[in-house]
Amino acid sequence: MRGRILGLVTAMAAMLGVAHAQAPDASRTAFRAIYEELVEIDTSSAGSCTRAAEAMAARLRAAGYPQSDLTIVIPEGRPTDGNLIATLRGRNARAGALLLLAHIDVVDARREDWARDPFTLVEEDGFFYGRGAADDKAMAAVFVDLLIRLKQEGFRPRQNIKMALTCGEETSATVVNGVRYIMERNPQLLRAALAINEGAGGELDAQGRYIALHVQAGEKIHQQFRLEVVNPGGHSSRPRPDNAINQLSAGLLRVAAYQFPVELTPAVREFFRRMAPLTPGETGLAMAAIAANPSDAAAAATLAADPSHNAIMRTTCIATTIEGGHAVNALPQRARAVLSCRILPGHTPDEVEAELVRVLNDPGIAVTLANARQPTPAPPPLSRAVMAPVERVAARLWPNVPIVPTMAAGATDARFLNGAGIAVYGMSGMFAVPGESNAHGLNEKIRVRSLYEGRDFLEGLVREYAK
Ligand SMILES: [Zn+2]
Repeated sequence: MRGRILGLVTAMAAMLGVAHAQAPDASRTAFRAIYEELVEIDTSSAGSCTRAAEAMAARLRAAGYPQSDLTIVIPEGRPTDGNLIATLRGRNARAGALLLLAHIDVVDARREDWARDPFTLVEEDGFFYGRGAADDKAMAAVFVDLLIRLKQEGFRPRQNIKMALTCGEETSATVVNGVRYIMERNPQLLRAALAINEGAGGELDAQGRYIALHVQAGEKIHQQFRLEVVNPGGHSSRPRPDNAINQLSAGLLRVAAYQFPVELTPAVREFFRRMAPLTPGETGLAMAAIAANPSDAAAAATLAADPSHNAIMRTTCIATTIEGGHAVNALPQRARAVLSCRILPGHTPDEVEAELVRVLNDPGIAVTLANARQPTPAPPPLSRAVMAPVERVAARLWPNVPIVPTMAAGATDARFLNGAGIAVYGMSGMFAVPGESNAHGLNEKIRVRSLYEGRDFLEGLVREYAK
């Protein structure tokens, strides 16, 4: 009997042991199911964000979120452009909320061009493949999974935690941008003191070794300018000295030869300072030099040779489209080009337009805005309140891996929030070899290990900010 009881106890302990060993796996399996469902709902311009928003709302409801804490926002007349905002109630409703922001729409993907179906989650050779597998359904799935687990354990954050899964970040030409739409009509839904967003992960070297964890603070804005020359034209057998195409081309060459001044935001200066010891050769020396003295012209010139470094040091304007003329045997009556300008935080479209007019130096070239005037928020500060929790969580997961702030040369939805007093930081804790995810491109992927580590990082961070 005793033997049998002991045996039973041993067996139970063994079972418990097994149960303990399996607990994280069960949690991971649940997370993976959310991720899979999100990736497999087509949210490209041909698909539906609303379906994804509703699927995630159903999961949150099943986990105990009352309907009153789940809001699906469907823009008028746009039934497939839905967004979901969910709230986990905090102890102090008056404390500034923490916003977890992820877009659920994805760049279009043509099945015939991909090696695998873009809307089937495939795990292969240590990677997850699928459209949105990295950008941005990785973070979206992490946030949904985290909100479910926090609810189930009865976690009461200090402040409200809001999660916004939004549409139209990638597809804003054809789909309503959810963040802008909500901020214009119902801003209290997104109102927060601090937000975690896409925009930066971590960097691995070619061997998969950890180089740096990035935190993105601030981003450039994308303002497009149309240049236009008109001319009476005429017969091409009798050319005249003034020609719309030539006149525009000469202007474009003056813009091409011009460089906007170097200016380092605090995040970019810090980026160079911390990357300097990690970067070999002349580039590392130039990083150290410009971090010490932002007006070091020689260092700036060395760094500017790399397009990614150049892009974070100055405003840039580059010709992206051109059209002109109406017949092969006629002098052009019109020539047009679009300049894609990426403007440093702290500068306005008007300033850049004035500078373009000065550089073009030709009143015959008309300059106008080619897209809606973009908001120009200042970058959010890299305060201790934001960075200390990042440091604590990162030290646990990746001891000795440096934390390196960055500024994005591209734009995210943060531009609609930073200006409204919500400090938005890009951080996922998902490491990759630069360029490896091929987000927006073919066969988008993310390392399996990076996704799970990012999940741990974001969970740790939310718990730190919410305690
Ligand atoms: Zn994205």
